[in-house]
Amino acid sequence: MTELLRAARLATMTPGAGILKDAAVAVEGDDILAVGSFSGLRREYSGPVRDLGDVLLAPGTFNSHTHLEMSHLRGKTHGGEGFTPWIRSMLAQPLYDFDAACVRAELFSSERRGVAFVADISTRNAVDIGTILAGSGLGFVSFNEIIGRDVPANDADLLPRVREVEESGHGVMSVAGHALHSTSGERLRASKRAAKAAGGLPWSLHLAENVDEEDMLVHGGGAFFELLKSRGVIESYDAPGERPVPLAASLGLLDADTLAVHCVMTTREDAAILARSGATVCLCPRSNAHIGEGVPPVRTLLEAGAPVCLGTDGLCSNADLDPYGEVAWVLEHEPSVSLVDALAMVTATPARFFGRAVPYAARLGVIAPGRLARFSVAPPAVLDILSQR
Ligand SMILES: [Zn+2]
Repeated sequence: MTELLRAARLATMTPGAGILKDAAVAVEGDDILAVGSFSGLRREYSGPVRDLGDVLLAPGTFNSHTHLEMSHLRGKTHGGEGFTPWIRSMLAQPLYDFDAACVRAELFSSERRGVAFVADISTRNAVDIGTILAGSGLGFVSFNEIIGRDVPANDADLLPRVREVEESGHGVMSVAGHALHSTSGERLRASKRAAKAAGGLPWSLHLAENVDEEDMLVHGGGAFFELLKSRGVIESYDAPGERPVPLAASLGLLDADTLAVHCVMTTREDAAILARSGATVCLCPRSNAHIGEGVPPVRTLLEAGAPVCLGTDGLCSNADLDPYGEVAWVLEHEPSVSLVDALAMVTATPARFFGRAVPYAARLGVIAPGRLARFSVAPPAVLDILSQR
């Protein structure tokens, strides 16, 4: 039976559509059949009407970067003093003792808030997290994150195969690099090759996240280097002498399948490099604020033409996993960004990026005939900021 969802405002995310008033979506089962004015669709469809009232209805959201395996660390990490003090506080915890019940509860809660897709990074538990995601109602990429300096004999060894994921029909396993300062260029390139050889899977990298990374890459020292040395991870470091974004480009790590996460330390020249490469950027501003890393240059990246998505990062550096929190941050800190442009960062833009290799993702992100019936409602935090503009 066809049902009509009626909403006072509707962000379809179709290019140029803006926000429709007194609009409706005709839904049958999992599929969207039609979208338009309520009065127009009412003439066409005689089924039941679910009137949502005075809400802003939007596509189900994408959380383009999180760390579910760290969910048990909510409220237990040190904030406000930068990356290395934060990492120290993480290392004092049972970091990788992930709590499956907690992860399932967070995913359930995400789904109830209108999240339709999660891109997760896991350093030790990708197979378990992938299995949990395969049993959830969410689309997903479960990234196996690699870190360190060992180069595998076979690139494909970095990409786990998980039967439940392959059979799920709504997600994939992939591989991600941690960061340029924690992981050697050769190991990162091996992981990038593994993702490419498996059919152009999305590949993710924490890039230009903070001053500690830049210090180590450019000068070979700094707080993070001292931490690695004190823990016996490395004795010396031959600094490449390049800043993060140009270094990632020269290593061949940036292309249309790359998600460059954070990009706080991004200059205008870096933004141009990112845009030219075809990579998509994922900002996690609430996480950067918690850790004390600075503010990502949203305007600079948009002006350069880089596609921009948003992610919550893990509960080790954020209070919740709702990407609308990041939308609210963007609207508050960048008054020049419109509501539709901010919503695109959690809907249409990530749907284009992840949809390249994940057919399920390509059916999300826009409210249009043939797309999946997955919706979100903009929360008061977003509407309050708009009402003050
Ligand atoms: Zn991260």
